[in-house]
Order: sequence, then structure tokens, then C-alpha cells
Amino acid sequence: MIYKRSSALFAEAEKVIPGGVNSPVRAFKGVGGTPIFVKEAKGAYLFDEDGNRLIDYINSWGPMILGHAHKPVVDAVVEKAKKGTSFGMPTEIETKIAELAVLMVPNIDKIRFVNSGTEACMSAVRLARGFTGKDKVIKFAGCYHGHSDSFLIQAGSGASTFGTPNSPGVTQGTAKDTLLAKYNDIANVEQLIKANNNEIACVIIEPVAGNMGCIPPKEGFLQALRSLCDAHNILLIFDEVMTGFRLAKGGAQELFNVKADIVCFGKVIGGGLPVGAFAARNEIMNYLAPLGPVYQAGTLSGNPLAMAAGLAMISALNNDAEIFKRLEEKTKYLHQGIANVLTQNNVVYTINRVGSMISVHFDEGAVTDFDTAAKGNNDTFKKFFHGLLNQGVYIAPSAFETWFITDALTYEDLDFTINAVNQVAKTL
Ligand code: PMP
Repeated sequence: MIYKRSSALFAEAEKVIPGGVNSPVRAFKGVGGTPIFVKEAKGAYLFDEDGNRLIDYINSWGPMILGHAHKPVVDAVVEKAKKGTSFGMPTEIETKIAELAVLMVPNIDKIRFVNSGTEACMSAVRLARGFTGKDKVIKFAGCYHGHSDSFLIQAGSGASTFGTPNSPGVTQGTAKDTLLAKYNDIANVEQLIKANNNEIACVIIEPVAGNMGCIPPKEGFLQALRSLCDAHNILLIFDEVMTGFRLAKGGAQELFNVKADIVCFGKVIGGGLPVGAFAARNEIMNYLAPLGPVYQAGTLSGNPLAMAAGLAMISALNNDAEIFKRLEEKTKYLHQGIANVLTQNNVVYTINRVGSMISVHFDEGAVTDFDTAAKGNNDTFKKFFHGLLNQGVYIAPSAFETWFITDALTYEDLDFTINAVNQVAKTL
């Protein structure tokens, strides 16, 4: 494939944007090469500035669960835009999307909209601290909750890809309140809680991790976390920025039948516009300004275009009784197809999958936490990535990311992808 125009555009971008990108994972640093500049996208496909067509397995890192330029979403945004793009005053559509979210997601009474997943998680932790009157937070190594200071401690995603788990600029004072636990290791969490008796406000977790590849929670792990939190008066925060409205209507809480105290959203809930949200039962949400003492705000929060996109998106999901089953079947088909061709070609691999999240790791042991995810062979991953890209299949340019399956993918697209994997596997 030719990437002449993308390369030229990247060279221009580098002069005025740090690294040529507005978010590090886009830069291809982990895999080498030049990022591809997108011109437009429709359904399961991206079309780049050189006229190449790529089957998209990133889907804007999650939001485009129904494919790109999904008509009801685009129409809703266009219609809203004609009536003004921002007011900084209440609008009816904010209540509409809030009502639907509260209906779809278990254990929440109220939801507050923000502009990104980062803001959602940052605000959720502030709320947990305010509500419990305690300071410390437990997070898991390899989980990513956005780029706010307290989460940039062994974060996954780009922070892992670039080998900068602890960012300069985060003060010691902030870092000391974030305690690190090992994903899927309940004894480790218990130890931390005991060692910090009555100081922990919340445990925040990706209920299915998606920022160190896709890592499912071990059987009983989330339930055990719930019990530990109950026993120690700690709030359990599910960061469902990836899993919310993707694994089930009610997200991971529904899928695993575990109740979180605060739930964070992003990605799908905004239909591709900049939206995040956090939600909880009344007792907790009423602690938030203007009702309560914990401050949180946003000039563009609840923006009408963003709410229109989000409402169209989650309505479409709510109205389609088969959507999550269909997504899982497609992902399972892809999983089996890829596993078969990798096995046939004697490639060492592990595939993890939950619903429509899947990742391929080039190591044979089980991938259950950050340490085992980091054992994957990155040279093999680089070849795999570029080999697929050359055949028009676009996966995330990092081994520390999950793939996101969209309903716009046809079985022909999946077969095309499996065949592309077969071709690459011969070269690994
Ligand atoms: N939480 C999780 C689980 C995420 O995957 C991400 C982003 N990938 C975030 C939070 C941060 O969201 P945003 O990039 O919208 O700030």
C-alpha cells in the first residue's frame, strides 16, 4: 500500500503538533512507521488520504460500535447543529439521554455528563474521596483510567507502549495516594487494604481490562472485590469507559452480575463525540455540586451535539435485542479463525476475548495481568501489525490495546481478515 500523502501530512503535522498527533498512541511509536491520515470512514471501513481502504478494528478506540458514520447518529448531530452548537444552559436532550442510561444500566439513579473518559474517572475518584472522607485510591497495574495525575501510575495503554509508566509532572504527593494492585490477584488487594487501614476511599478497576490487551477478570475476582470493599467501607468504581454499552446494555455490571458503587463511561455513550459520564445511586450522586459539597463542572458538559450523538447511539443499542449477541458471535468467529491459522503456522500465541473485545498476544502462557501481558513478543507484534496493515486490515498500533469489533463488519470482512492473518503468520 502507498502512504505518500499520509507521510507528507504527518511531516507537516510534526512541525506544529508534538509528535504530529493529539494523543500519543496514534503515533505508531510502538510499531514504527508513519501514522495513517484518515480522510473518511463508513461502516467497517476507513479510507485514508492515499485512497487505501482499511478494515477498522479500532473504531476510534471503541465508540463506533455500530460502524462509522452510522446514519441515525449523523442525522441527529446534523439536525441539532442547525439549532446552535452550545448554550451552557440546560437542554431537554440531557435529561432524555440520562433517563435512558439510568434505564439501561443497573444500580445507578443519576448520571453526570462530562467531556472525556479522563474527566469521568477523575471526577468519580474525587466524589469517592468526598463521600468517604478518605484519601487513598487502589488502582491496578496496566489499567488505564485517563491521563489525570493520580492515574498515571503504572497505567496501561500509551503509557505502557512508550515505557513511561510514571509520568514526570505527577508530584510525589499525588503519587503516594495511589496504591497499585495486581490485576486478578485478590490477596494482593486484601494486603493493601490491611496495610492502609481505614485510609482507602475507593478501588477503581476496568472490569474487563482493555489497556494491556484484553484481559478478563478471573472467575469470582470482581465478586471478591465487591465483598472486600463492603467489609472495609470502600467504594468500588467500575471504569466502564470501554465496557459500558459494549459488553451488554448494562455493561460489565450486568454481564458479571456485580454491583459497582460508581460507574464511569466514555466512548460508546458519546456516539463518537467527546463525551464521558459518571453515575451512581442517589446517596452518592447527591454529594455532587450544586446539591452537595464535591465540586465538578464543565463549560461544554452536556453539549447538545454530543448528547444527540450519544442518545442516538444508546437508543439504537437499546432497541436492538440481538446486538450484543451478534457482536459476540462475530468476535467468536474471528477468534476461532485467527486461532486456527496461527496454530497451522506454528505461531506461539494467546488470544483473550470478552464479548466484542479481543486481543492477540504473542506468548503462550495465560495473559491475566500486566506482567503476563508485557511478556508478549513485541517484534512479532510489529511484524503482525504491519503485515495486516499492508493487506488493508487496521488493528491498534500497540500490543497493549484491545481490538473493538463493530456490528458493521460482515462475515466476508472477517474471512478477509482471517486470510490476511494467515498470510502474515507465514512470515512470523
Ligand atoms: N478509562 C478507560 C478504561 C479507557 O480505556 C480510557 C481511554 N482509552 C479512559 C478511561 C480515558 O478516556 P479518554 O481518552 O476519553 O479521556
